[in-house]
Amino acid sequence: FLSGKRALVTGSTSGIGLAVARALRAEGAEVVLSGFGDEDEIARLCTTLSARHVPADLTTREGCEALMAGAGDVDILVNNAGMQHVSPVEDFPPEKWDLLLALNLTAAFHTIRLAVPYMKVSGWGRIINTASAHSKVASPFKAAYNAAKHGLDGLTKTVALEVADRGITVNCISPGYVWTPLVENQIPDTMKARGMTREQVVNDVLLVKQATRKFVQPEEIGALAVFLCREEAQNVTGANWSVDGGWTAE
Ligand code: NAD
Repeated sequence: FLSGKRALVTGSTSGIGLAVARALRAEGAEVVLSGFGDEDEIARLCTTLSARHVPADLTTREGCEALMAGAGDVDILVNNAGMQHVSPVEDFPPEKWDLLLALNLTAAFHTIRLAVPYMKVSGWGRIINTASAHSKVASPFKAAYNAAKHGLDGLTKTVALEVADRGITVNCISPGYVWTPLVENQIPDTMKARGMTREQVVNDVLLVKQATRKFVQPEEIGALAVFLCREEAQNVTGANWSVDGGWTAE
């Protein structure tokens, strides 16, 4: 049902973004991939998904602008690129704060402001922002991530109101823990910050949050993104969708 629509998914060379790109492609959308990674692997993904890859560093305004220029007009914009850093606030490197805010929040502002004019002209659009359970609640040692994701929720609601009468919806999807490189890579620092073993971090820090005691699968996020693109979802806007095994219900 998405043939003729172009979807740009940031951070789609890995993890959740890749699953969202696959799900949108399966419904017929033309997909534009963005993100870093092994060149051969990205070329292979482009072939499998009949996709284009537009390389850009989204921590800079210039990178965001280059991405949008390279992608062309987009009907579906998925702001998904993100990174994490785990550290007590007093040791939190200021340059890491700047990077996390730039990628997890400011990049979405730039892509949205550049995508909305075409969506308004065409009278249809879908903007989906991958936020996090950490857009609703906090955990210690993630000052920049939690601040950026809470901000992304605010940006989502604001833009949703601005474009509500133009056929454009804007929503957040907020996963709990999904087993991707982003989660795997934060385990060593969490072990250090909390004085725990790897197993304790997985069971007592990560899965303890989720009443289901299961990691969320990237494909589950892809399925929700597809739903948000349907006509039946035309009145679903400004919402923050938890897919977190019950974490934020507590
Ligand atoms: P991931 O590390 O597997 O993928 C991150 C993607 O972002 C990759 O494609 C990477 O190349 C891209 N990226 C990183 N730095 C970039 C930069 N400077 N410019 C452009 N692209 C860049 O991570 P993931 O777990 O799939 O995370 C995707 C999104 O989901 C993030 O916004 C993350 O915060 C959010 N999220 C993840 C989880 C989880 O448990 N994995 C939970 C909640 C929210």
